[in-house]
Amino acid sequence: MKRDKRYDCLFEPLAIGPVVAKNRFYQVPHCNGGGYRDPSAAAQMRRVKSEGGWGVIFTEQVELHHSSEITPFIELRLWDDADIPMLAKMADCMHEGEALAGIELAYSGVNGPNLYSREVPMAPTAMPIRTFTNDPVSARALTLSDIADLRRWHRNAIRRARIAGYDLVCLYGAHGFGIIQHFLSSTTNHRTDQYGGSLENRSRLMRELLADAKDEAGDSMGVTLRLSLHELTDGLGFSNNEVRDLIGMHGELPDLWDLAHGSWEACSGTSRFTAEAAQQDLVKGIRELTDRPIVGVGRFTSPDVMAKQITSGVLDFIGCARPSIADPWLPRKIDEGRVEDIRECIGCNICVTGDMTMSLSRCTQNPSFMEEWRKGWHPENMNPKGDSSTVLVVGAGPAGLEAALSLGRRGYQVSIAEKNIVVGGRVTLESTLPGLGAWARVRDYREYQISQMQNVNVYLDNDLNAADILEFGADHIAIATGSKWRSDGVARQHVLPLDVHNDMPVFTPDDIMTGAKPVGNVVIYDDDHYYMGSVLAERLIEQGCSVTLVTPSAYVSEWTLNTLEQGFIASRMLELGVTLKLNTSLASVARDAVQLQCVYTGARHELHADAVLMVTAREPERGLWDALQDVSGEWEKHGVKSIKIIGDADAPAPIAWATYAGHRFARELDAPPLGDALPFKREVTQLLSV
Ligand code: ADP
Ligand code: SF4
Repeated sequence: MKRDKRYDCLFEPLAIGPVVAKNRFYQVPHCNGGGYRDPSAAAQMRRVKSEGGWGVIFTEQVELHHSSEITPFIELRLWDDADIPMLAKMADCMHEGEALAGIELAYSGVNGPNLYSREVPMAPTAMPIRTFTNDPVSARALTLSDIADLRRWHRNAIRRARIAGYDLVCLYGAHGFGIIQHFLSSTTNHRTDQYGGSLENRSRLMRELLADAKDEAGDSMGVTLRLSLHELTDGLGFSNNEVRDLIGMHGELPDLWDLAHGSWEACSGTSRFTAEAAQQDLVKGIRELTDRPIVGVGRFTSPDVMAKQITSGVLDFIGCARPSIADPWLPRKIDEGRVEDIRECIGCNICVTGDMTMSLSRCTQNPSFMEEWRKGWHPENMNPKGDSSTVLVVGAGPAGLEAALSLGRRGYQVSIAEKNIVVGGRVTLESTLPGLGAWARVRDYREYQISQMQNVNVYLDNDLNAADILEFGADHIAIATGSKWRSDGVARQHVLPLDVHNDMPVFTPDDIMTGAKPVGNVVIYDDDHYYMGSVLAERLIEQGCSVTLVTPSAYVSEWTLNTLEQGFIASRMLELGVTLKLNTSLASVARDAVQLQCVYTGARHELHADAVLMVTAREPERGLWDALQDVSGEWEKHGVKSIKIIGDADAPAPIAWATYAGHRFARELDAPPLGDALPFKREVTQLLSV
């Protein structure tokens, strides 16, 4: 297939200072939970993107000096020459498909608590460190001689980046994470010397660092600057108007302007709160203020929207982090006229949770993300088929669909049976909830791909029992029957069923998603702590209920701190008039009231309720699996070699865990048993002699 002419503009080369990007696809820096702990995993992940056609590929944030580091978060480090080989390996991987290799250098200033290096943090102005975890540490103000050191440290890092083979060096001044922004912003810069006060003074360090960088980069590297488009707190900050003034004054200083939204939360907004191309108003018109190219982001997954950004003159490069994670081959698919094969990001931010939990990142849509090196998984190519021929997958939720698709790609004859009249399982249900429409892409991508395959057959409206399954007689069987929400209050706070009066109407998320409509005052008891409690609060408000959300946590939807959504969720709850009862447990449920209990003091009080919605634990649907275990003596007679249980039916978790389980099942079918060996590679730190 040939590329659609409408997208030609996305494939025009463009210079960034002394180097030329082959096209307009620009993978902006993004974290991955691997960093200095798992450098080969991070490098191989970038290599796959290079193969996938990106014109520019960046590292994540690279700490440029040990006096400013962001432990516990795991990024990359360029503290001395010892870090060069690892960063050179990453640059080599980026170059494999002829992408420009970019490195993002960060001095974290007021964002670096230095929990590891134990150095006293330095910032434009002395103040408490500003991090996600409110570390009880303060920064001191940089003196003029510290600023001279800072400039030298930047030069050292840029020299090392050049030795490592990078083509682009980005100075980080966005998301509140880089010192350039801390100087530019009146929130963090209260200086009265030549580096504080007017915009001209606040931008002095930026100008000095850029001049030094260009000098150090010479003719071999382009120098880019990453800035937030808008940062305002209580009238202070670095507003979009000031950004425009700055670019108007110093438009030609960097070789490219890399413009990110505002805070990281705003820049990486989830689809629940932020639409594609949401940055448009903040970035529009800036291109007229400078001759230098501009890159911006916006969770772009549609080639039409991308092309419009270029042809309408808003952007020169299409910046992508999450879309490049969900589909590392996105540019190549557009180039090859295979737009329908793009695995679109759903905007769930599970990838971000890897960084926030200091674990390797996952992606809901792309189960191979960060497994490229340690498991040898590729997002597009499966391992060859093994000795067996046929597989039956029971259940067409995300686990079953991913298993069927990936097994089909390996060349097996696959049947997938689903008891409902549509595929998608929980994704189909949840994507009808407020703000979660884009999640249907998990189903739609797989359903379409499967529909194109001769060797995968879908059987809807097929509620299979153990006898049916054995009768079917496939070589291998995957049980992907999912889970159901519990109604008895059991989760973390209560490990045994709650005392519930028979006359009180009690609902579960499954009931609401399949059309049940409670009325009056509804108490949501959220001991799940992810999105479901708050999403259902929105649904019930839409349906005319008044809602009290009770949770033992100090936060509504606590785990969404990791998806950067918690603040947005809390404000939405308050705007909608949901009453929040935090640090509170549900003690018992009476005929027309609930007993609430403070998790600290145990003090109880009663609240009138017309209905209770339990958002607690999910119970795996293991009935079919258990029934098959009961007849395991008959498997061989029916030609069945193995039966495995995968996804939520095995142990309920977010959707990303289910696509991973389905993919893993497909990858490992017919593989020799590993025994007690580790199922992945890992890097172990080399011991130095004392
Ligand atoms: P997961 O997240 O693990 O994929 P889901 O709950 O999303 O789990 O999907 C499980 C799917 O399995 C649902 O669509 C459900 O209708 C289907 N299912 C459950 N039991 C059976 C069965 N006995 N036969 C066929 N399909 C089943
Ligand atoms: Fe997109 Fe979710 Fe994958 Fe992140 S985890 S890239 S937000 S689909």
